[in-house]
Order: sequence, then structure tokens, then C-alpha cells
Amino acid sequence: MKRPAVAIIGAGASGLCAAIEAAVTAKGKADIVVFESLARCGKKILATGNGRCNLSNADTDLSHYYGDTALVSSVFESYSPQSTLDFFQTLGLFLRVDQAGRIYPLSNQASAVLDALRFEVQRLQVEIKTETPVKTIEKTKDGYLLNGSFFADSVVIACGGKAAPVHGSDGSGYALLHSLQVKTTPVFPALTPLIIDQFPKSLKGIRAEGSIAVKNRGKILAQSTGEIQYTDYGLSGIPAMQVSGAVSGLLTEDPNAVCHVFIDRAPGVSEEQLTDYIMRQKKERPALLCEDLLTGIMPKRLGVTVLTEVSVQPQKNLNALNAGAVSALVANIKSKKYKISSVCGFAEAQVTGGGVPVSEINMQTLALNKAAHIHVCGEIVNVHGDCGGYNLLWAWNSGRLAGYSAVKGCLC
Ligand SMILES: Cc1cc2nc3c(=O)[nH]c(=O)nc-3n(C[C@H](O)[C@H](O)[C@H](O)COP(=O)(O)OP(=O)(O)OC[C@H]3O[C@@H](n4cnc5c(N)ncnc54)[C@H](O)[C@@H]3O)c2cc1C
Repeated sequence: MKRPAVAIIGAGASGLCAAIEAAVTAKGKADIVVFESLARCGKKILATGNGRCNLSNADTDLSHYYGDTALVSSVFESYSPQSTLDFFQTLGLFLRVDQAGRIYPLSNQASAVLDALRFEVQRLQVEIKTETPVKTIEKTKDGYLLNGSFFADSVVIACGGKAAPVHGSDGSGYALLHSLQVKTTPVFPALTPLIIDQFPKSLKGIRAEGSIAVKNRGKILAQSTGEIQYTDYGLSGIPAMQVSGAVSGLLTEDPNAVCHVFIDRAPGVSEEQLTDYIMRQKKERPALLCEDLLTGIMPKRLGVTVLTEVSVQPQKNLNALNAGAVSALVANIKSKKYKISSVCGFAEAQVTGGGVPVSEINMQTLALNKAAHIHVCGEIVNVHGDCGGYNLLWAWNSGRLAGYSAVKGCLC
């Protein structure tokens, strides 16, 4: 008798986890087949965390997620963040937690994570068909027909979104969903640098601690602190990436929305403390050059730009600073404002905002309301998270639930 077949579309983070959970749940009573458009599976996993794969975080509060966060909460009830760590440890992957709570493989190599998943997929005799993009899904009276030739009783769509298409996620999953009459919300790049018109070229290449807040009509949309990377087109680094989704989402909704970024270049130091420091330096070291005033606070090149932005000449002595210049300088250090023109696109983004909304999904099983035996997981769903392991955590856990439900759905 023909055995039920579960087709998983996409061998990325969520698809590989779906395949493993499906095979474990099936206990040999169903065939699990993964379709992957690229020549190898898990290509994006290798690029994560700068090649180290930040696979989860010790702080799994839902406030780190955006979009339909009810889905995250529901998935975490079935597959908790702790269960994911246990899952990887069962696969032989030792883990380490850094000071910020980010969780990495002990080897510090993303390839170790992919290997652990690949070896398990092999052990469970899951078939992976590489270089096989799925272009069509047709509903038949007995199940689903993929690419007009492969029959599946259940399907998991784990195609990812549109971010970083070089790693395979080219957005083709949305076309599959639309062919099934499933609606998706507008998608936008997130965790991507901010573009600022006429950004000072003198800042290019500087890395410095700072806090970033982005505002629209005076309201704070998002804020983040960490190492800012100044580029020739704007701001990058974790704080800029963290706030980018809020800007990108708003600009997608309303292309005419005006967003500003405010940079605090001395986070943790109050305006009073800065003023006291400058006044003390002026009194005790009146002959010190202005260009050397801020070297204890920020990189010298950034300090010089900060001075010139308020027309303080770097080569002048401190005794030339009048009270007005001191207060302008302090205000400029604490809150430099730039107008954001846009964010970098999907090619540079780490993740996709938007996607399949909760209204299209059964929260308990991740099956589509319009197609009970088709499940969705990972980045294609309207969920994205902060930097720090949150997107992979969502991909692993939603993938595992989708794989489990896909098998349960076709075996019962
Ligand atoms: C540079 C970079 C660094 C990142 N670092 C981190 C990090 O450290 N921590 C973190 O949590 N997140 C990180 N992310 C985000 C994280 O990698 C993604 O959110 C996650 O991989 C999404 O998993 P997914 O399975 O949904 O999609 P993907 O990993 O994108 O996998 C989708 C797979 O489906 C395949 N596919 C697509 N369409 C089809 C089709 N029609 N037929 C067959 N196959 C198809 C693709 O080739 C791909 O292999 C990073 C992302 C990038 C780009």
C-alpha cells in the first residue's frame, strides 16, 4: 500500500526542523521529502551570526517579536525556547551563551549547526531533492500535486521570505500561497541599514557606541543602543538594524511618511555630566585643542565631526568655547537628528517583515485555514524578531510544529 507523503518546500532553518520533527513523528509510517531550489540545503544558516549562528537567546520575551506575535506565543506553548536548546543538544550540538544572552554553538561555527541538522535528516532517512524549486501546488481530490508530478498528502511551505535572496529565499513562496488564494500582508525588509541623504562622508568607517531612536511625527517608533557603524550612505550596525523594521514597515504602509533618526553619541552620560566635564576641561586645560576634548568619549574622527557640525573649530583652544557653543555641543552629542530617506532593500536585509497573517493560519497547527493540509512556518509568516537569535528561534520552533502537525494531519 502506498505510504502517505509529506512534502516540505525549502531546506532552510524552518524546513530542516520541520523535516526532522515530521520524520520523528511519522515513526516510519510516512515518507518525508524536502524540496530545495538551491544545490545544497541550509545555505543561509551558514551566513548567520557572522558565520557563528546566533541560534537563540536566553531572553525569549515576546517583546522581541513583531507582526502577529500571538503566533509566536502559541508556537512557544507547544515548542518552548528551552525545548529547542534540548533539541540541539540531543543532536550533539554543544552551546554557549554570551554576556548579552545570545546563544551560539560552542564551536562558534554556523556549519556545526547545519551539520547537526543534516546528520539528523540523513539518520531519519528524509529525502532531500536539491535543485528542485517548487513552482506549482495544485489541490486534487486526494491531496496536493507539486510541480505537476509529485503527490503529497501534507505540505509544509518553508520557503523563507525575500530577505537575502542570494541564500535562496527569492519570494517564490508567496506565489505558491497566492495560487492557493491565501492572502499575505505587504512584505518589507527588516534588520537592514538606514539610508540618510547627504550623510557626512567624513563619518564613513567609524564604529562607536551610541543610542538610536527613530521617530515619526514626534512619536518614537523604535530605539536601540550598541555599536553604530557609520557608512557612506547612513547608519548600520546592530542598533540601526534593530530600528529599521519599524521605519521600513511604516514607509511600506505610507511612502510619504517622514521619519527621523536621533543619535545619542554618549549613551549613559547625561547632558549635565557632559556640560560639567567640558566646563572643567576648559577651566583646567584652557590650552587643549577642541579636537582633543571628546577623545575620552568617542573616536576622535567622530568627535571632530561633532564639533564642526556646531561650528566649533577643532584647532581652536578650549578657552575659545563660549557658553552658547558648549550647550550647542552638548545638545549635538546627545541628540543628532537626520532625516531617513529609506532603508536598504531585501538584498542587504537579514529578515522579512510581513507575510502570512494569523487570520490565514490555525494557531495550534500552523495549517492554512484555506487548505487544512498545508502548513507554513519560518520567515514566510507575518512574524519577525530582533537581532539576537530571535528569527532563527522562530524558524526552528515554527518549523518543528509545522512538521509535527503535517504528519499528524495525514496519518489520522
Ligand atoms: C546574513 C544573515 C545573518 C543572519 N543572522 C541571524 C542570526 O544570527 N540569528 C537569527 O536568529 N537570525 C539570523 N538571520 C535571519 C535567519 O537566518 C532567518 O530568519 C531564517 O533563516 C529564516 O528561516 P526560513 O527557514 O524561514 O527561511 P530560509 O532560511 O530563508 O530558508 C528558505 C529555504 O527555502 C528555499 N526555497 C525558497 N523557495 C523555494 C521553492 N519555491 N522551492 C524550493 N525551495 C525553495 C530556499 O532556497 C531556502 O533554502 C540572518 C539572516 C541573514 C541573511
